[in-house]
Amino acid sequence: MTTLPETTERKLGLVIDLDTCVGCHACVVSCKGWNTENYGAPLSDVDAYGADPVGTFLNRVHAYEVSPPEAQPFTVHVPKSCLHCEDAPCVTVCPTGASYKRVEDGIVLVNEQDCIGCGLCAWACPYGAREMDALAGVMKKCTLCVDRIYNDNLPEVDRVPSCVRTCPAGARHFGDLGDENSAVSQLVAERGGMDLMPEQGTRPVNKYLPPRLRDALPSAPASAAKSDPATEGLSGFLGWVDRTLTRL
Ligand code: SF4
Ligand code: SF4
Ligand code: SF4
Repeated sequence: MTTLPETTERKLGLVIDLDTCVGCHACVVSCKGWNTENYGAPLSDVDAYGADPVGTFLNRVHAYEVSPPEAQPFTVHVPKSCLHCEDAPCVTVCPTGASYKRVEDGIVLVNEQDCIGCGLCAWACPYGAREMDALAGVMKKCTLCVDRIYNDNLPEVDRVPSCVRTCPAGARHFGDLGDENSAVSQLVAERGGMDLMPEQGTRPVNKYLPPRLRDALPSAPASAAKSDPATEGLSGFLGWVDRTLTRL
C-alpha cells in the first residue's frame, strides 16, 4: 500500500464550467492527441475505423438531459477526468507505489515502470477516472499535462493542460486551488463551485461550476415546485449531478 503526503505545497487542478461546456469533445480529442495519440491522429487505439473501437481516453464527456421542475429541460455536458483528490484512494490501494501524489503540486500520477496492471486503483476510484491501457498493460490517467505546464520549451501561453488550451467555449480553467487568491479559487467562490460526490470523502481538487437554469416555465403548478424525492439531500442540480455520477 502507498501513503499520501499529509499536505501539498500547491493544489493544481481544473475548474470546469458546466454552464458553458457545449459537449463538443474538443477537450477529449486534444487530451488524446497530447497524451496517448494513435498513429497520426487522436483515434481509438484498437479498431479505430471498425464497428467496435476501443482505446485509452484520459478525459471523457458525459451528456444528460435535466428536467428541473421550475425551468425548461436542458442538456448538461459533464467532462470527467482525474480530480487529483487530496485523499486519493487510488494511491493508498496501490500495492507497488506506482500511484502517488506529488508534494510540490498535488498532482496524482502513475509511474508506469512500477505499475503491474492489477487494476486495484481503478476499482478504488469512485469516479471511474482511471483507464487501463490494454496495449501497454499499465494504468493511465489524467496527468494534468505535467509535461506541458512546466515545459520551458513551449511558449508561455501553451503551458497549460492541452484540454484547457483547446476548449473553444472557455469552459476549462487551470490553476492553484490551494491559493484562495488565484483566479480559479475566486471563480469557484463566485460561482458556487462544487465537489463531485463529496460523500466519498476523497476531497477532489478539481471543481465544477453548476449550470444556470434555462428559461423559467411560465406557469408551473405549485406542486411541481416541490422538491423531487430523487433530488433530496444535496439540493437541486447539485444533488442530481451527485446521484448521476454515483450511477456511472
Ligand atoms: Fe465542453 Fe470545452 Fe470539452 Fe467542448 S472542449 S466538451 S466545451 S469542456
Ligand atoms: Fe484517484 Fe480517481 Fe481521485 Fe483521480 S479521481 S485522484 S484516479 S480517486
Ligand atoms: Fe487530458 Fe491533460 Fe486535460 Fe488531464 S489535464 S484531461 S491529461 S488534457
